[in-house]
Amino acid sequence: MERLRLTIQHLYADMMNLYGDRGNVISIKKRCEWRGIEVEVVDVGLGEPIRPTGCDVFLFGGGQDREQTLLVDDLSGAKGRELKAIAEDGGVILGVCGGYQLMGHYYETPEGEKLPGVGIFDMHTRPRRPDEPRLIGNVLARVRPLEGEADATPREIVGFENHGGRTELGGGTEPLADVISGYGNNGRDGTEGARRLNSYGTYLHGSLLPKNPWLTDQLILNALRRTDDSFELEPLDDAAEKAAFASVAGRVRAGKG
Ligand code: GLN
Repeated sequence: MERLRLTIQHLYADMMNLYGDRGNVISIKKRCEWRGIEVEVVDVGLGEPIRPTGCDVFLFGGGQDREQTLLVDDLSGAKGRELKAIAEDGGVILGVCGGYQLMGHYYETPEGEKLPGVGIFDMHTRPRRPDEPRLIGNVLARVRPLEGEADATPREIVGFENHGGRTELGGGTEPLADVISGYGNNGRDGTEGARRLNSYGTYLHGSLLPKNPWLTDQLILNALRRTDDSFELEPLDDAAEKAAFASVAGRVRAGKG
């Protein structure tokens, strides 16, 4: 049997990588290797085309306004159209904070410049007003079950947020989760992130995936099932990951930030 091989496509790896986002690459890589699944990591930087393999996870990390401004011309050309087509076809994409914001229609900077996004999510992000603070701190959120999954085990995610932008979801995109503690999309409507088909967006850095192994496995499984839809992942011993989750979630639940 041909060995399964997953490709991690790391978008703008040298520009969009805040608060440990690179840990998401390491988490996917390790959880594949521990199961004997071959993994290749490809950095897709400025001017470099996307070369999908059919079994990919696309990662788009967070970044300051400066980096988002520097990459937006590159993203709004063929690369953005390709990424949107991959998303529409059920490709697996995870965007974190600044990367997540550019998966919507636009991200507006505090200077009033509207940076066009790739439009995978029906949403836009406005800048914080001068009288508004940055949204910073640990977050605990309950993930919304997918349609037809209502009786599934409730899932939670933890992570760290630090953003000025406020994201408003439109009718065409579901939130990923509901905030239990923290700010999330805009600090007002209690939603966190977005999810559509196999595309996930979140404000959670930290990095996100090492402390939320079920989500890491969900991304890996969704990618592998694009080549073999009967594929199942063998379970791993997640004691360390669950302890890391519990330590942050415990602190947040106790109001210790
Ligand atoms: N520059 C964006 C903002 O401030 C995203 C920041 C980030 O990725 N942490 O909202």
